[in-house]
Amino acid sequence: MAKIVTDVVCPFCGTLCDDLEVALSDDGEEILEVYNACTIGATKFLHSQAKDRVTRPQMKQEDGSWKEVTYDEAVEYTANLLVDAKKPLMYGWSSTSCTAQGTGSEIGEIVGACMDNTATVCHGSTLIAVQDVGVPSATLGEIANRADRVVFWGCNPAHAHPRHMSRYSIFPRGFFTGKGSKSRKMFVVDPRNTDTAKMADVHLQLEQGHDYELLSAIRVALRGEALPDFVAGIPKEQIYETAETLRSGRFTVIFFGMGVTHSLGKNHNIDIAIAVTRDLNDYTKAAIVPMRGHYNVTGSGQVWGWQFGFPFCLDLTRGFARYNPGDSSSNDLLIRDEVDAVFVLGSDPGAHFPVGSVKKIAQLPSVCIDPHITPTSAVSKLHVPVAFVGVEVGGCAYRMDNVPIETRKVVEPPEGMLTDEEFLQKVLTRVRELKGAA
Ligand code: SF4
Repeated sequence: MAKIVTDVVCPFCGTLCDDLEVALSDDGEEILEVYNACTIGATKFLHSQAKDRVTRPQMKQEDGSWKEVTYDEAVEYTANLLVDAKKPLMYGWSSTSCTAQGTGSEIGEIVGACMDNTATVCHGSTLIAVQDVGVPSATLGEIANRADRVVFWGCNPAHAHPRHMSRYSIFPRGFFTGKGSKSRKMFVVDPRNTDTAKMADVHLQLEQGHDYELLSAIRVALRGEALPDFVAGIPKEQIYETAETLRSGRFTVIFFGMGVTHSLGKNHNIDIAIAVTRDLNDYTKAAIVPMRGHYNVTGSGQVWGWQFGFPFCLDLTRGFARYNPGDSSSNDLLIRDEVDAVFVLGSDPGAHFPVGSVKKIAQLPSVCIDPHITPTSAVSKLHVPVAFVGVEVGGCAYRMDNVPIETRKVVEPPEGMLTDEEFLQKVLTRVRELKGAA
């Protein structure tokens, strides 16, 4: 009889589903099946048991081959890389626990690093907008129970957050939304006819890059003022109707993704989306929530917010935190040749950064700490495999709505393998020794 572990949290996307059940073999060592997760989440658990998984650090040799080294040697290389560098970049932090993020911050402070997380290439513009104008928000639980008008703007949860609609936003039968999806009107604003758009009651297929205009037009329509015949390719009648439907509900929520954070206008798109949400609050209850990607990118911003006052693009080189997105952001630093070592944990810039930045990582002393072999580990000088947070070790993560959730350990990691936190603690100790810090 298989052992079932219940209330498991999925450590993949920012939805952080906390209702998974994992079936283990009799001895509790092998994951047999994952219930309730989407395909992406289940695959993360099942792949952690891959037979060909790398379980020891690998150092790249001069001829390009890889040689296994001990964790102690990996700690020594990493500590020296950080201490010797004038301006190391410590990037990632979005797929690990808040505890590991905090330990990484201690190291970054001692060595005077630039620290950045994956928000720099996704919701950084959202963070800037929220700092500028604040944000009327709500938890996903509140939304499941109350929201009867749901807007997905520039995001495609059917693919990127597959259980978001079934757990929180469209299908659940909540306290005031007893008829599930029939209780809700679903809007999608996207230039593409995505799988999410195909499910919507209303699809506003705006012209690419004209989000700001359409958001402005909705504000105008909410005030009952005159609009031109078309805005962003959408007829004015449809804009008036949308504004009317949004304001006539009991609770409107706007979820938004990278289609709007990274189209023309960037943080100003989010400024005005927040302004629309504020305007709607004159008539009904309204909230706005970013669709965060990595399962703990939100936690990374939270931890740095407590520790340094800023959620990403930190420059600690002068011994105190400076924050200047566009100057202290990872890609700008790499492209300008301003950093002389790269440390990556819990992210894959090799897959997501522009090729110019990836080439710079390949030229510099570098370490990649990640359970998987990734494009980043392939261009780094040292790859340190670690246990999977949320599968082989627990730890706190923040859901996309800023709710902290404690992830669970389900199985033991392979024998002798370190967790992120254990590896970082060893690096911290060695960095302190090398720097003579207390
Ligand atoms: S929606 Fe996200 S958190 Fe939920 S099971 Fe799928 S990948 Fe995991």
